Amino acid sequence: MPCEAAAHFLILYGSQRGQAQSIAEEICQQAAEHGFTADISCLSKHDKYNLDSESRPVVFVVSTTGDGDPPDTALKFVRKIKNKSLPHDHLSHLRYALLGLGDTNYANFCNGGKTIDSYLQKLGAKHFYATGHADDGTGLEVVVDPWIEGLWDALKKAFSTMSTSDQQTLSDCTQDSNHQNASDQKKNLEVDLQLLKLSEVDSPKGKTVTSDSIATEIGSTSSVASLKESVPPLSESVLNVPALPPSYLEILLVGTENVEETVLPDKDGYFEVPISKAVQLTQDDAVKTAILLELDISQQEQVYQPGDAFDILCPNRDSEVEELLLKLDLQMQKNCTVQVNLLKNTSKKAAKVPLHIPQNGSLQFILTWCLEIRSTPKKAFLRALVDFTQNASEKRRLLELCSKQGSADYNSFVRDSSVCVLDLLRAFPSCCPPLSLLFEHLPKLQPRAYSAASSSLQHPGKVHLVFNVVEFPARPEHPARKGLCTGWLVDHVSSILEPHGTALASERPGTSALPKVHVRARPSSTFHLPSDPCVPVVMVGPGTGVAPFIGFLQQREKEREANQEATFGEMWLFFGCRHKDKDFLFREELEKFVHNGTLSHLIVCFSRDEPDAAETVNRPTYVQHNLILHAKNLAKILLEDKGCLYVCGDAKNMAKDVNDTLLEIIGNELQLDKLDAMKIVAGLREDKRYLQDIWS
Ligand code: FAD
Repeated sequence: MPCEAAAHFLILYGSQRGQAQSIAEEICQQAAEHGFTADISCLSKHDKYNLDSESRPVVFVVSTTGDGDPPDTALKFVRKIKNKSLPHDHLSHLRYALLGLGDTNYANFCNGGKTIDSYLQKLGAKHFYATGHADDGTGLEVVVDPWIEGLWDALKKAFSTMSTSDQQTLSDCTQDSNHQNASDQKKNLEVDLQLLKLSEVDSPKGKTVTSDSIATEIGSTSSVASLKESVPPLSESVLNVPALPPSYLEILLVGTENVEETVLPDKDGYFEVPISKAVQLTQDDAVKTAILLELDISQQEQVYQPGDAFDILCPNRDSEVEELLLKLDLQMQKNCTVQVNLLKNTSKKAAKVPLHIPQNGSLQFILTWCLEIRSTPKKAFLRALVDFTQNASEKRRLLELCSKQGSADYNSFVRDSSVCVLDLLRAFPSCCPPLSLLFEHLPKLQPRAYSAASSSLQHPGKVHLVFNVVEFPARPEHPARKGLCTGWLVDHVSSILEPHGTALASERPGTSALPKVHVRARPSSTFHLPSDPCVPVVMVGPGTGVAPFIGFLQQREKEREANQEATFGEMWLFFGCRHKDKDFLFREELEKFVHNGTLSHLIVCFSRDEPDAAETVNRPTYVQHNLILHAKNLAKILLEDKGCLYVCGDAKNMAKDVNDTLLEIIGNELQLDKLDAMKIVAGLREDKRYLQDIWS
């Protein structure tokens, strides 16, 4: 059997937003460099693989979505391996490795991967390499890069322990090709360094410099590292840089005249709807500005329940698209039609034209609506940019940022600073990549989700959404900017924005020229009011986290009106904000719910209000402090009355603090240690009685 055929493994990915897919593709790409060949497939493509008879090692890359769920593309696969009728040794022939992706800011970290891992194990499949769990909260690459690095040896061992003589041949052959590859890689690296060593180029100051003098110069002019500059030891290190990712797209720009403006089509379930109202919910001097939008969905079949969310399509900022075009020297071609083809002789495995790039869209349209130009460039993108950078010291710095030795600099000056490609082009002015490189490396511009803050029983044909305008202060790496979607929305509705205090019920005169937005309902599978209205409900929603609970309460108010004889469970709401008079969202509506009996308990706290002089005890600052004050009630509702706890809002701090508080309350109430309290909480989650709708 020829070596190539034997050193073959399979990569299966389950991706929600493309991360797992791009890591799987990276593994596939690197396989060749390590003397292996790999097939790659999405888990949803059931006709492309068959684990029941798979004799090759399999590498899974699986992300996590929602409340710890596997990605949509993996759901069918999970159902299949969950099938209880399968014998326990059904997959005992299978050798696999699994890389899970998740975010520790959310509960159920990496649960998508963990679920698949545990069912594969139950069916007798065996690991040939330890599972990796990568955390987007701290940077996926911290785990992903070393995990991939270790994979090759593990694969080699996996092949060599597989007992056929063919596989023995393959193991030898792999080793050989690894040697071959190691030398290829070394060559690659040497070539990179020679780029600097051999070439004598003009420095920014017009001097002719070599790499040695670049290092000296950087070291002597700056003692503090920045995005643009490094300091010793990094500036003097020999670098290990990733292999150059193969290019795979060819872009043609056609015609500049009479190109009709490309518009967003109503497709993929999106509809363009008018924004019938926009009201500022916070005082002008509040720390954050919260805005309520009312969307008129009466002409669409957009059915929703409180607890569901809506996806909004938002464009990149015009000014950023214009500047990007300028930097790419493509301003004159912005109205050209873009044709995207695969490069005929690309060495990229499984290369295909990304689905999110339409054929024949105008260049401006694609940069505005299709590519996340604000995304943080991965190391492979930095590596690719090096080859389109003229200036030697800029080249060197880009190589450092994508190198093993420069990981800490990458983390602080690129990832943690949320640098985007435009920031890089500003920082490295001699870098002018071709359009194809951007199309290859920029991910799809994702819609942003917003929880419905209304019930259609209360507002037929309408849905309310509430958002905080996200602000990112200026940093050395980039100017101040607003969140992409929230910054766009606030500008988009400026002509109809009503000031704080405007009654939501007031009618707007003249609705002909309302701003419009493309939206799509994003139903939640679990975050809904309990089907039995007698079940008591505890809602924890500080800030804009209150949004879905306004929907719950409007719904319950209407149900109570319609069924006056019926019994309804208690509803508790724990709300928090900074100042009672500045950002207490929906204050009047919440007080009305209390007044008419819909809301049994409204428990609020204000984190930045000064305590009254007369106050003797510490006032609760955050929602979790109020949960402690009401610990007995909370424990009774959850443990005795079989009630439901809903938490909505900030994933980074609040949801974690609330979870810790819940463990404390349950531990104290039942006299349990932390581990046993965790089991009870896990049980509540399993029963769908502890539900989270959290975002960062
Ligand atoms: P983006 O531009 O996407 O920036 C957001 C994140 O990117 C930041 O948190 C940060 O991590 C990073 N980032 C980008 N640039 C920088 C920078 N320069 N410096 C530092 N960090 C940076 N939000 C609401 O307000 N109300 C809701 O009801 C709501 N419901 C949601 C429901 C669901 C199911 C989900 C998943 C999310 C929900 N969100 C809600 C969050 C919302 O979808 C958006 O994430 C949020 O509005 C920010 O979007 P943006 O485009 O303005 O910000």
